Amino acid sequence: MSIHEEYKKALLTGFDSSYDCFLYWKGRVALYSILKAIGISKGDEVLLQGFTCVVVPNAIKYLGAKPVYVDIEKPSLNAKLVDFQAKRSEKTKAVIVQNTFGLSSQVDEIAAWARGEGIYSIEDCTHGYGGNFNNQRNGSYCDAAFYSTQWNKPFSSGIGGFAISNHAVIKMHLLSFEEQLHAPSTTEILSLGLQLFIRKYFLNKATYWPLLKLYRMLSKRNILTGSSSGEEIEGLKMPKNYWKQMSNLQAKVGLKELRKLQEMETIRKKNARVYTNFLLENGKYHVSTDLFENHNFLRYPILVKSRDTFLEKAQDAKIQMGDWFLSPLHPVKGDLSAWEYSSGSCPNAEFIAHRIVNLPLLEDHQSICGFLKNNIDDLI
Ligand SMILES: *Cc1c(COP(=O)(O)O)cnc(C)c1O
Repeated sequence: MSIHEEYKKALLTGFDSSYDCFLYWKGRVALYSILKAIGISKGDEVLLQGFTCVVVPNAIKYLGAKPVYVDIEKPSLNAKLVDFQAKRSEKTKAVIVQNTFGLSSQVDEIAAWARGEGIYSIEDCTHGYGGNFNNQRNGSYCDAAFYSTQWNKPFSSGIGGFAISNHAVIKMHLLSFEEQLHAPSTTEILSLGLQLFIRKYFLNKATYWPLLKLYRMLSKRNILTGSSSGEEIEGLKMPKNYWKQMSNLQAKVGLKELRKLQEMETIRKKNARVYTNFLLENGKYHVSTDLFENHNFLRYPILVKSRDTFLEKAQDAKIQMGDWFLSPLHPVKGDLSAWEYSSGSCPNAEFIAHRIVNLPLLEDHQSICGFLKNNIDDLI
């Protein structure tokens, strides 16, 4: 069996045999392929929540369609069924349901509604691989789902993504696309290999902040094969060779990392409970405890009064704090009209995007709780 076949098989563990898996250079490429497979084109509208990565509306815009944003609710950081229903029009052809930080929402109801309306449903499962919703795998409610194995995702191959589907038409198209995908260049693979090496041997508590800054600076300038190139953040030009397949290196690393997932999930779940209890005790914002039963957290979101100051304090204390999502269309700040997002249209998303940071779940919770305790007045 080729490494790609072996990886696909491992990724489909827990899904029934009607599912197929397709591998890509990044998660966004998996989304783009799904949208293309369902025939999204000019004049179509795709519903999605306004608290996501800009690469999600990018994939819609690259096909000439229009992203239509739905607000999120605070307890789950996800959009609800009623909000999708309110934005549905005759042009709506698909809905993207996201499980932010791994917190599943009403994906069952939204997928069922979409089916009844004759709209395709796609799950943005980039934070949710391995988790469940009502004892069913994340990604199995919708017609198709896409996942990411970028640095910050449930398990990582540096960059990488895949799609799954049990929908006959979607599967057929995704299969036929496999031959059309570009191959990653040697430079791209070498660059990724170097970054994986650095992560393995040099990333630690002391180097987290300087390396994060260096990585963002280099990838923005397209010096590094990073998560997002400058053009993806600055505008709507599709990068050259965007539609790319997964390399053998990614499949190999992904397969290895996937084996550690269960262990990581156990730790994440345990720490998420510690943080929720801490926030409850201190009367601070926490995600809904109703969501706890069978889902996985990717990282743990908290809200703070002043993000910049708080992040500086975290940096001084060497806490590996995350800062997403910085805006309704992370990481683009300011005017989002190029992506057809009008300011004020998703008030909850905007409120949260100004105040959210996230705690790592694989690090020592005692020192993090100590840090939070010392800065408790900064929390909302
Ligand atoms: C990371 C992320 C993506 C894109 O994944 P890539 O593999 O980086 O393309 C899409 N949606 C959300 C919500 C994400 O966090």
